[in-house]
Amino acid sequence: MRLTRFLQVLMAIALALSWFFSAASISTTQASSVSVIVTTTGSTSYEQNRIIRLAKNLNLDSQPAMPEWWNIQIMSGQEFEAMLVQNGIDGLTYSAVSFLGQGKTIVNEDYLIFADDARVEQTLAHEAGHLICNCASEARANEIASAIIPK
Ligand SMILES: [Zn+2]
Repeated sequence: MRLTRFLQVLMAIALALSWFFSAASISTTQASSVSVIVTTTGSTSYEQNRIIRLAKNLNLDSQPAMPEWWNIQIMSGQEFEAMLVQNGIDGLTYSAVSFLGQGKTIVNEDYLIFADDARVEQTLAHEAGHLICNCASEARANEIASAIIPK
């Protein structure tokens, strides 16, 4: 148990260093059995804490297919747009995008500024849905989202 925790911490550090070397701040939290890592480049700790709070609320334990690690990165609107272009998916989303097989979700900070908690929760649940079904289906992601949003 202690070794597992130690390895989790090591992995969190390694992931954080390798993926987001320029991250201004990093938070790791245990959302039930799923470790949620939120990294930001320039975003406020307010948004970072909000993501953690909302992600922890989701009933991820009901979904065995959820990756053990969920890395959520908050990007500035400009970075987010550039990332979409780089991945050839610009115009497809304004709020968030997930990378299947990587347990990774990137959230647009510009979206967070205007979206209330309920909307952000819906977005996170939808993105978790993609990671859980390991598919691009919007219908399936929405189905899973309604299953994991607390009633
Ligand atoms: Zn989607």
